[in-house]
Amino acid sequence: MSFSTLFFDLDATLYPSSNGLWDQIRLRIYQFMRGELGLAEDIIPATRDRYWTTYGTTLEGLRIHHQVDPDDYLAYVHDLPLDQYLEHDQALRDLLISLPQDLWIFTNADRRHADGVLNELGIADLFTGIVDLISMDFVVKPNPKAYQIALARAGEVDPKNCVLFDDLLVNLNGAKKIGFTTALVGENGIPGQADYHLPTIHAIRENMPHLWNGKDEDHNLES
Ligand SMILES: [Mg+2]
Repeated sequence: MSFSTLFFDLDATLYPSSNGLWDQIRLRIYQFMRGELGLAEDIIPATRDRYWTTYGTTLEGLRIHHQVDPDDYLAYVHDLPLDQYLEHDQALRDLLISLPQDLWIFTNADRRHADGVLNELGIADLFTGIVDLISMDFVVKPNPKAYQIALARAGEVDPKNCVLFDDLLVNLNGAKKIGFTTALVGENGIPGQADYHLPTIHAIRENMPHLWNGKDEDHNLES
């Protein structure tokens, strides 16, 4: 069978986590919880991890337990000079353009941040659409509802026609349960945990050449 839609996570998937941007976003989240909410320093990491594990994002925990306004939070944590971390990525642009499938962004961040990142990378015009946490009504990956919303937005009936590229295994596992093919992006995962494992997003062709064939040949599974 062939794939018709490819979903791409944004942060730490379309750019390497080593560029420092993702660390800065996490620092801004910490600063928001410390400075804006006045939480004690020693409880912030555990609180953040608990919210993230329980609700899929730190924001959802802050909304439920601290009545945080999502717009305020998102503007604060993404208030970063993206051009200091990201640059035009012609190799990625050429690679994405060559793919015959429909390309979608599927991110637990908000659209404003996604637009900023995609513009810096020079690939904003290559995606049919963006599924962000607002369009998911804050019910984000890995909640099963998030994948259903993404499929509906992309006009896909069968998840078997879809691939998700993501740097987080928990998000891929949620997709796998529904029937997506999964590709773990980045150096952190252990080979075999997802259907495919790409050290960087630039390695799609080497690892998944069948995406260009229009037919799904023998999976080069690492498991
Ligand atoms: Mg990510």
